[in-house]
Amino acid sequence: MASDYITFTIGKKKNIALIAHDNEKPKLIGWCSENKEALARHNLCGTGTTARMIADQTGLRVRAYNSGPLGGDQQIGAKIVEGQIDFVVFFSDPLTAQPHDPDVKALMRIAQVYDIPMAINKATADFMLRSSLMDSTYDHEVINFRKNVQERAKTL
Ligand code: PGA
Repeated sequence: MASDYITFTIGKKKNIALIAHDNEKPKLIGWCSENKEALARHNLCGTGTTARMIADQTGLRVRAYNSGPLGGDQQIGAKIVEGQIDFVVFFSDPLTAQPHDPDVKALMRIAQVYDIPMAINKATADFMLRSSLMDSTYDHEVINFRKNVQERAKTL
């Protein structure tokens, strides 16, 4: 019988998504510049404006998705589902209402479902980036969705 969980592996080279709300962009750009050498060892992507600003101001290569309010957070969520993003640094603004708040919540939720490391502030990002796991592969258990769908289709 199929197991309830599948083992996924986060590779040594991580696929890192970088996102910052407007008031937090200077902080994330500063963090990227401080950690440029470590970040350059991984594949980087981000929401449109954040990715562009990091690339322009640090020289790091960052693949840009759409701007967050125009669906960029949802694109990053979809890439997590497809197994193409396995690490997220998202400096969200806790003091300002965002028009795309549901998208932000959806991204956080999908990162939880897929057991993806996600930093929502600088201290967490610092701890994560200095973890010995940054230089090794990491196996983790994710819900076996195929089995879940088969069982739901039979029972509902
Ligand atoms: P931005 O989007 O990088 O295009 O500004 C980030 C966000 O607000 O989610």
